Amino acid sequence: MSEPAPYIGRFAPSPTGPLHFGSLLAAVASFLEARARNGQWLLRVEDIDPPREQAGAKALILTALELYGFEWDGAIIYQSDSRGAHDTAVQTLLKEDHAYRCGCSRRDLANAPRGPLGIIYPGTCRNSGDAQNAAVRVRTTDEPLAFEDRLQGAQSQRLETESGDFIVLRRDDLIAYQLAVVVDDHLQGVTEIVRGIDLLVSTPRQIWLQQLLGFTVPSYAHIPVALNLRDQKLSKSTGAGAIPLDSMNETLIAALEALQQRPPDELRNASMHDIWEWAHANWSIDTLKGRTQILRQ
Ligand code: GLU
Repeated sequence: MSEPAPYIGRFAPSPTGPLHFGSLLAAVASFLEARARNGQWLLRVEDIDPPREQAGAKALILTALELYGFEWDGAIIYQSDSRGAHDTAVQTLLKEDHAYRCGCSRRDLANAPRGPLGIIYPGTCRNSGDAQNAAVRVRTTDEPLAFEDRLQGAQSQRLETESGDFIVLRRDDLIAYQLAVVVDDHLQGVTEIVRGIDLLVSTPRQIWLQQLLGFTVPSYAHIPVALNLRDQKLSKSTGAGAIPLDSMNETLIAALEALQQRPPDELRNASMHDIWEWAHANWSIDTLKGRTQILRQ
């Protein structure tokens, strides 16, 4: 019998702001799951969208991860370093006619239908081909794209009706997240992706790209979003604050509680080392099964 592939997990923050509680949950869950499976845990900074980057956010994220006691394997990976591989993947998609150039501007698409994922591209440039200064879009079909999420169960999307042909290279020459994440996970041999449920809607597009590029499809576990009463009353899209860099133990315990682990009261006075030790020994991801939201106390 062949050995199962070694587990390689990762945490992949974008430096668009400091770490907030939701991203801490993704970091904690992906880290503990990787260790529980004797796997590696990689840290990849997704810095491919300079206009959306916030000055100083990269350093703040790394400082926070260090202060919270995370231990990643190998050197920190910067997604901007793999631009060559991203471009090669775009060229492959174009060459194999899985993708085409699209000169449509935002204005051209003002009347396009909208779905939960944003504009559903009406296919204007599908057969016309060679616009210059153009974005690159991937062709989609309406075959249901189904997969089993380890926590959220059976998922399915019809890409053509739900997202339409989607962008992999933007008109401003930046690589789109959907492509970059797929190429990098492949380059780094990632086998298991544990991340926030806000990305669940993107997963079918990512699996589609993996299939077109001949990459192995990793397994996915999307953890619930944490809301507190105040966040809910405000607005979902606003104001998740940075995690504190002075009361880490307390925040780490709150993260474990939000992740439905049950840290005992004694842990409140324990060292960070002991909190992690408890977390490694007691971690179970299955307590999050089927949950899409958790209320933070
Ligand atoms: N960089 C993405 C974010 O910060 C996460 C990418 C991923 O986990 O696939 O939202």
